Amino acid sequence: MRMSKLFMPTLREVPAEAEITSHKLMLRAGLIRKLAAGIYSYLPLGVRFLKKVENIVREEMDAAGAQELLMSALLPAEAYQASGRWEVFGPSMFKLKDRSNRDFCLGPTHEELFTQAVINDVHSYKEYPMTLYQIQTKYRDEGRPRFGLMRGREFVMKDAYSFDLDEAGLDKSYKAMYDAYCKIFNRMGLDFTIVDADSGAMGGSGSQEFMVKSPVGEDGIAYCDACGYAANYEKAECISQDKPQIKGDLPMEKIPTPNAHTIEDLVSFLGAEPYNFAKTIIYKADDKYVAAMVRGDREVNEVKLKNLVGCVDDLELAAFDAVREITGAQVGFAGPVGLDIPVYADKEVALMENFIVGANETDMHYKNVNIGRDFEPTVVADIRVIEDGDVCPRCGQPIKTAQGIEVGHIFKLGTKYSKALGLDYLDENGKSQTVVMGCYGIGVTRCMAAIIEQCHDDNGIIFPVSVAPYQAIVIPVNNKQEEQMRAAEEIYESLKAQGIETLFDDRAERAGVKFKDADLIGVPVRIVVGKKCGEGIVEYKERTAEAAEEMQRDDAVMRAVEFINANK
Ligand code: ATP
Ligand code: MG
Repeated sequence: MRMSKLFMPTLREVPAEAEITSHKLMLRAGLIRKLAAGIYSYLPLGVRFLKKVENIVREEMDAAGAQELLMSALLPAEAYQASGRWEVFGPSMFKLKDRSNRDFCLGPTHEELFTQAVINDVHSYKEYPMTLYQIQTKYRDEGRPRFGLMRGREFVMKDAYSFDLDEAGLDKSYKAMYDAYCKIFNRMGLDFTIVDADSGAMGGSGSQEFMVKSPVGEDGIAYCDACGYAANYEKAECISQDKPQIKGDLPMEKIPTPNAHTIEDLVSFLGAEPYNFAKTIIYKADDKYVAAMVRGDREVNEVKLKNLVGCVDDLELAAFDAVREITGAQVGFAGPVGLDIPVYADKEVALMENFIVGANETDMHYKNVNIGRDFEPTVVADIRVIEDGDVCPRCGQPIKTAQGIEVGHIFKLGTKYSKALGLDYLDENGKSQTVVMGCYGIGVTRCMAAIIEQCHDDNGIIFPVSVAPYQAIVIPVNNKQEEQMRAAEEIYESLKAQGIETLFDDRAERAGVKFKDADLIGVPVRIVVGKKCGEGIVEYKERTAEAAEEMQRDDAVMRAVEFINANK
């Protein structure tokens, strides 16, 4: 491609709204443009990048025996109503009506539709096992679309669904997808970690996420270098850590704590340690209220709490008004003593003695509170967030934590959807059985963001060859020098003839501008034709190399072809 003709509107200035590197670089390098919050157009370089990523996914899915099909994004409501998710998705589902007032949605994920397709068209147990997939645009009206392609409202997902006769079959299909995912993310050049993930209160027998560690990741992951344990915070099991307690049989006492709303306020006011307090937080779980208690230096893990409470739709902090009504006090003074909603206490709270809690009275706390004597939690369980300083639940060594970008998710669904929608089969004895399912997602466009988060430097993107929009670029230093232009063009033609996707920077720009752009758009190999062109010498540089090397033209072409073929 001649760059004089390429639609590649690079930007010198970073748009203010772009907070993270991948978003900034994709805008600056002219890969994407924003249409609305979480909605983007893909420009030519962006489309080439997208197709590369899609094709890696497609090749490995096909190699794993999955079959590609393509469903529409505009979907009738019925299947989602039958599964209950028409309501469960809540405001994140884009809903609309057709001219006859029938309900439709823009598909957020397709479990129901794939299940329906199999119900309609698979008639014998002999057709199982079967894994189907598509690479398709999904729609979710996310509460916080942000970070460019990382969390869009329109995004490309690869979603696959496996259909098996029994659990053992599901285990095999799941393993095949697990292996394919490892190949896929390796081919994309991503450094990833596989973590145990939460499967939700609604069942499913296991689930894992493929995480790319990154400070901009929205998921917390806990991992252990000693034994290889890794889990999403949502799932990571916490081992209780005891802290020094205030000993003795001390009477519970109400104490004034004016204007002390937070643990920090209380610590300085009462001179106690954060771990001598227990926080009580009121949540709304579907349409009932519950209280969650964790030690003062800990945080509530809302996913664990949600699963424990058996909450189906939403678990959220109770509104201020509700807190006032339930506790009879301003927010910040809730406590378990005398509270008449269910109290879920973390296991560590059960180890505490003579601790401090809110008194359900504005500006008041109780001290010397003891479980059993002063109140009884409804449930004691692990409901806290794992932290640095925790120990590995598997081997006891120190846990490390990091932020991660979820690029893929594999999930043993079991019979959740097949039961809800009636996907049965007659086994060889003529007995009716339920099909066992798995589902497997990859955020294709999120992978694009994750790749750039991991592969960049101060000058721009560093595309791995496997996903680079163009693999090589040939730059004549001075367009006015006919000899340089001719040599550069010959190198360009030679690379193209050998199947290398090559850019030819024939623009009438200064050499510095051309070099900057080549770095910004992350082309893996650069060949510069300059002054020594008369002697047949050019400069060869890989994007990751410190400096360019001078060599004969033919050698440079050969190096480029070899390097690209070895890494594509
Ligand atoms: P998240 O927790 O990040 O919202 P999710 O668990 O809801 O994601 P899944 O339903 O598991 O997402 O979807 C499969 C994959 O699709 C995810 O692993 C992720 O890579 C991608 N994905 C999900 N939501 C978005 C989004 N809003 N924008 C881009 N990619 C997304
Ligand atoms: Mg997920």
